[in-house]
Amino acid sequence: MDIYRLPARADNYIFVLHNPVDHTAAVVDPADAPPVLDKLAELGATLVAIFNTHHHNDHVGGNRELIKRFPKAEVYASEEDKGRIPQQTYALKEGDRVTFADRIATVLFVPGHTRGHIAYYFSPTSAPASAPASVITPLDDTPGELFCGDTLFAGGCGRLFEGSPEQMQSSLAKLKALPDNTRIWCAHEYTLSNLKFAMHVEDQNEALRSRFAEVTTARAQNQPTVPALLATEKATNPFLRWESPQLQAIASSQDPVTVFAHIRTMKDSF
Ligand code: ZN
Ligand code: FE
Repeated sequence: MDIYRLPARADNYIFVLHNPVDHTAAVVDPADAPPVLDKLAELGATLVAIFNTHHHNDHVGGNRELIKRFPKAEVYASEEDKGRIPQQTYALKEGDRVTFADRIATVLFVPGHTRGHIAYYFSPTSAPASAPASVITPLDDTPGELFCGDTLFAGGCGRLFEGSPEQMQSSLAKLKALPDNTRIWCAHEYTLSNLKFAMHVEDQNEALRSRFAEVTTARAQNQPTVPALLATEKATNPFLRWESPQLQAIASSQDPVTVFAHIRTMKDSF
């Protein structure tokens, strides 16, 4: 499975998944159809699936036009989002599995940004879904791929539009528990501004300071910062760092939800 990152709108990323063996493709969160159609034409690929993480227009805006061009493609989205995802054909919940190419993705229910938000975690295995369990051999050099929409960002997290701090903290804890080498394919290039805030609240974090310097350089050269590695997020993203003494001191609490809620509120007006 090859992954292509397409910039869209002001700061969105759309991800096209391609199976070079049979020239099928899937797309994660098509904000708009034209960049996806261009990529499919370039690859000579047929679209077989749309994977939506949540109902916001900058994640589903391309659904209708893509389905017009590829009427047989399935549209996967949360069962909580039924009625607000254009052309939805599958209603997914926590633990469901979807497949593309030779990969299997587990659906993670991660409410907080919206009440129906889901993420797709392609685990680091490389056998077809139809193969017997004994044939599925983990490949150490194939990292897990997490498509998490607007839940976890590089250096930040999504705003709480429809969910509570409790929900979002528990969603982020679920993502934090994935393997360290998981690649984080988040849907926006927000990393630099996220890290400016992170530096504001946790300037004593050495790993954060060096990441901030790297990302500042990368963005000055217009380089993308997505995907990020989960290990990097655990070391530098304040919204996964409710155990940090500096963040706990700011929130005057050691309770994960209280620390998370306090930092999230600060970010809202930063
Ligand atoms: Zn959103
Ligand atoms: Fe978004």
